[in-house]
Amino acid sequence: MKNSLKFSILFLIVLFVACNNRQPESAKEQKTEPVFPIGNIITGNNFTGTAWLHWLVPNDSIFNCPAGNVTFEPGARTNWHKHPGGQILLITGGQGYYQESGKQALLIKKGDVVLISPDVEHWHGATSISGFTHIAINTNVQKGSVVWLQPVSDEEYGNLDQEKQELIKR
Ligand code: MN
Repeated sequence: MKNSLKFSILFLIVLFVACNNRQPESAKEQKTEPVFPIGNIITGNNFTGTAWLHWLVPNDSIFNCPAGNVTFEPGARTNWHKHPGGQILLITGGQGYYQESGKQALLIKKGDVVLISPDVEHWHGATSISGFTHIAINTNVQKGSVVWLQPVSDEEYGNLDQEKQELIKR
């Protein structure tokens, strides 16, 4: 057999093996692109750190239920605030915190759903070592969308972050 033919056959065998040796990715291993656009940086004084917002559902008088995709860089969080009509958070990426006034902060992560009753003072945001993305659905906004309060201080945030660091690393 000519060397060039041998080489061609060998090449085809190598190619065949290479193509068939790829393990099918399980659903968990698949790298998923963000589903919704990150949107624009949120300006103003109602957040600490950098966060982005992309509106998914506009506010209107039919549904009264605007929804937006919110992305936080590590350490970024909302101020304390409350929603006169309530709010639902669908966590779509990363790890973050949800804390109601007078209660311990909860570590929340991709796949979690948070139901926030009307007029409950709270904040949400990323941990210091992970980004965090949620879809925020503001319900019953004919009663009011959001009432902004004071920032979550570095002391408040730092304290709970130390408590949770070990948990996050596991
Ligand atoms: Mn909220």
